[in-house]
Parts: sequence; C-alpha cells; structure tokens
Amino acid sequence: MSLETRKQLGIWGILAIGFVIGFAVASGATKPEPTALASADADANAAPRYSPVKARDRDFYTPNSEDLGPNEMRLLACGTGMPTARPKQAASCWLLELGNGDKFIFDVGTGSAERISAFQIPYNYIDKVFLSHLHTDHFGDLDALFVGGALAGRQKPLRVWGPSGDTPERGTKYALEHLEKALTWDLDGRKGLTDPRGYHFEVHEFDYRGINQIVYQENGVTIRSFPAIHSLDGPVSYSLEWNGLKFVFGGDTFPNKWFAEYAKDADLAIHECFIAVPDMITKFKFTPQSALLVGTQIHTAPEAFGSVMSMIKPRMAVAYHFFKDFDTTPEISRRIAKTYDGPLSLAVDYMVWNITKDEIRVRMANVDEDVWPPPATEKPQLPDASLRIPYSKQISGGKLDMKNVIQPTYDEINKKFRLTEEQD
Ligand SMILES: [Zn+2]
Ligand SMILES: [Zn+2]
Repeated sequence: MSLETRKQLGIWGILAIGFVIGFAVASGATKPEPTALASADADANAAPRYSPVKARDRDFYTPNSEDLGPNEMRLLACGTGMPTARPKQAASCWLLELGNGDKFIFDVGTGSAERISAFQIPYNYIDKVFLSHLHTDHFGDLDALFVGGALAGRQKPLRVWGPSGDTPERGTKYALEHLEKALTWDLDGRKGLTDPRGYHFEVHEFDYRGINQIVYQENGVTIRSFPAIHSLDGPVSYSLEWNGLKFVFGGDTFPNKWFAEYAKDADLAIHECFIAVPDMITKFKFTPQSALLVGTQIHTAPEAFGSVMSMIKPRMAVAYHFFKDFDTTPEISRRIAKTYDGPLSLAVDYMVWNITKDEIRVRMANVDEDVWPPPATEKPQLPDASLRIPYSKQISGGKLDMKNVIQPTYDEINKKFRLTEEQD
C-alpha cells in the first residue's frame, strides 16, 4: 500500500468515525460525559479518561470523609491480632456502623482503643460494647475506652453486654464490677474536674448457654447470642440483624453446630482463623504439643475455618486472629482454600467493609496518626468543684508558688471567654 493510499484511507477512516459520532450525538445515543470519578467503570473497551486537575476515585477509606447511606452497614476492623502485642495489629475489636446512626463495638481487645480513635467517630455515639468472652485479647482495652472515651466526649454510661460464666466469678458482671474497683484511684481523681456523666458502666450480663437468644433489641436492631466453645464455659458468638442485613461475629471458638446454624446466610460473617500450626512453632515459638492443642482444639485452624464458611455460605467471610504477614498469609490462604472457595477477607487492622444489599466493598483505611478527639455531640456539663477530693495537708504543702507564672493564662482565658475563674 502506497503512502498516498494509506493517507486516503486514513482520511476516510476519520470521516467515517466522524459520521458515527455525529450520528450518535444527533440520536442522543451517547453516554453522558464520564466524570473523572466514574471513568474507571465505563465501557471496558474504551480508553479510561483522566484529568490532570480532577481527583480520581479512591480505593481507600478516609475516616470522617464519607456519609453512610440509610441502608448501609460499615464495618471497621479495630483489632485483628493476638493476645501478644504488636504495633501492626491490636487484639480483637470490630466497630459496626449502621445507616440508622447506631454504632456497636464487638470486643475491645488490648490495643484497640487507639484504632477506634483513628476512625474519628464522636465518642457519644460509641456507647455500646458486646463482649464475646473475657480473655484480655477481647476486652483488655475496655478500661481505655471507658475512661478515655468519657474524657473525649462520651456523656453517658458505657453500656456493656457480655456472657455469664459457669460461676458468678467467671461472668461479665463480676469482671466489670472489679474493673471499676481497680479504677477507684483513677475515677476518684477525676471527680469535679470534667463532665462526670461518662464514668459509669451499665452492665447487661446474659446467660452464655442461651441458644440464639435475643440480648438486645432497640431501634430496629436485633442482636442474638449463641454459645461458643473456647477455653472454658462462657464464650459466645453474636448475630446482628437490621434492615434486611445480617452481621455475625463468632469471637473465639472451636467450630460448632450453633455457628453453623445461626450464622447461615449472613451478609458478612467473622470467624476466628488461627495461625497455621507450623508457623506457631517456628514464628510463635510454641512447642509442637502446645501448637497442636491451641491451634486446632482451643481455636479454629484455617482448614476448619474454611469448612465452617462452606457450611454457612456468607456473602463475605472474614478471617481474623492471626498475625497477617507476607510469609504467614500464603500459608493461611492455602489451607483455607482446601475447604472453602467463596468470598473471603483476611482481616488486618484498619480494613473497612461497606455492606449493602447490592455490594460489599472492601478497602483499607488511610488514618491520621495525629488524630485529636472528635467534638462532643452534646453540650458538656460543667464540673462540680465541690466534688473534688482534696490533697492532704502534707502533699498540698509541697506545692511551689506558681501563682504569678500561671496568672497570665487565667487572664487570657477569662478575657477570651468572659469568665471570672480564679486559681486554687
Ligand atoms: Zn479467647
Ligand atoms: Zn482471642
């Protein structure tokens, strides 16, 4: 083909394309101009359109940047790890937000309070905690959420639901009464200094043996519990149903018949999936005997996790309770794949799921480590200074005289806020 012929064909080609486009525009058949945000899911054969000045769609979640739809659930992983601390993964904690405004925490394991803070949710909205059992990796940061949450804007008691034990001393009520006693010095020292309303527990202990029993029903939300099999009598699993969506949290458990029955058809089901036994021995330094016992009998081995999920067939299966590293993850995936091939998330802290009838979107959150407390959502109550517990004469007598040094701060704040506060 000569150069001239090619040029002519090129011109005809351009004219032909022009005709097709002209016809399409004239007949109204073109799609609306894709925005920069929508370009990625346009016609698969079309070249994507991007703009050098417009933001593209993001595939991560930024806290306090997205509305929650009225029919949507958002699940935030605030702890996915183990009882042994590590910077990357706090212990078990899941924050579930519903489109009706309700928010629920399932477990608040050691280290998880800082993850909760990273999601920048006003603390007055975070007043409901459901504990699966009383291992520290499932409730070890309850004190941090209790005290720190009250200080950061929770202006009401922290409501905690949890199972009884086979003796009163092994139940949630006993644990929380004694936790509050352990915090006597902390709580007494805060009297008369800040809004006092958050420094109380409201404990709801229920029978751990209840089978699919309702433990919570408010505002269109129903939460049920059923027994789990783990360590001692007492642990439970939960299901939450709202607006035609079902969320299940297994806590810690050996695979059991109740989960197989009552977690069925969940939109999202979380079940523990322990570290593979060979990794428990080499990386976690367990003896082979303990690794087998703990990794397959007290907890759920990855193959057993897959088996359970194949029985209940959730729209999304979530595995947690392992250290998720570059070298442990392939082993866990391989073992789960022996028994399960459905939708799966191998959870790590700051993973986020948006759940609607149509879609479950899984992303990682991009969090700000320099986060400050979000605003109080109600007017703070002023402290009653008469409630303050004074120092003894001996201790107050040790104060250096700082009156002149501090007075300018009083003057500055009194002027700015039109107050008449005086130093002690
Ligand atoms: Zn446990
Ligand atoms: Zn655990």
